[in-house]
Amino acid sequence: MKETGPPAEKVDVVFVAEGYTAEEKDKFVGDVKKFSGYLFEIEPYKSNQEKFNIYGVFRPSAESGMDEPRQNVYKNTVLKASFNAFDLDRYLLTEEGFLLREIAAAAPYDAIVVLVNSKRYGGGGIYNDYCITTVDNQASQSVFLHEFGHSLAGLADEYYTSEVAYNEFYPQGVEPLEPNITALLDSENLKWKDLVSPGIKIPTEYGKEEIEKLQAERRNNFLEMNKALEEARKKNLKEAEIKKLRDRFQARDKAVLEKIRAVRERYKDLEDKVGAFEGAGYSAKDLYRPMMYCLMISSPKREFCRVCQRAIRQMIDYYSH
Ligand SMILES: [Zn+2]
Repeated sequence: MKETGPPAEKVDVVFVAEGYTAEEKDKFVGDVKKFSGYLFEIEPYKSNQEKFNIYGVFRPSAESGMDEPRQNVYKNTVLKASFNAFDLDRYLLTEEGFLLREIAAAAPYDAIVVLVNSKRYGGGGIYNDYCITTVDNQASQSVFLHEFGHSLAGLADEYYTSEVAYNEFYPQGVEPLEPNITALLDSENLKWKDLVSPGIKIPTEYGKEEIEKLQAERRNNFLEMNKALEEARKKNLKEAEIKKLRDRFQARDKAVLEKIRAVRERYKDLEDKVGAFEGAGYSAKDLYRPMMYCLMISSPKREFCRVCQRAIRQMIDYYSH
């Protein structure tokens, strides 16, 4: 679909169709254009476009869409892609690895992307294997870029939940292999040391604890509101009184939100800086990421942090030499 040179000298990406019927072939062709276009909108893909060959391989499915086990929906599709891998609602995978490689082999490839003809939110990516994403969700663009980061460049998830202090995925006291997270066992020798912005402290304080405390306050306020409203209804309070009650909680929420904004504002200068920000790899503590925002955590500007950009660039160079 887009060839810039011989496969041996390029990054060859093959897009494979899943859940497209024979009649939906044109839609698949359009989706390949759209999703490969997403890559070249952002760095480091944008400035390395001429190092990519893009292929699409179409094998029709008997039915359109995909399996959704929790809804008891099962579709007859080529790769039998399914949600709930590892019992996670949003994690999408195929167990037909052999078939996938057989289909993909119609093109020379370094990386496989499975496009799933569905509106649902979801995706998955495994380093050196393949990535998969639904195509018609409003988040599909970011999901694809994130998952392709896993499968092409072996990037780690930078996101975490504030409630989970430690997890079993990354054992404590061991430096993770991935280029974009660190246990910071030796802060003098940070693995992205050469990219750290001048004058930035390691680890980098960015108001995390303050914000998390305020977020917990918001959650509690919300729970309290629900409880109070339920009691008010039981007591058959008048609508006007219920409204007053609700307004009071909503005013409190607004005030807390304002405080969160103020903390963010205070640390705004850090938004384009590289340092070591605590909270990464599913863990709120003791794992660090390079920047505040990145497609591997969440990125309002839909960008990779500079450390992830470099890791992807290195992979592009590896395949295109
Ligand atoms: Zn990153």
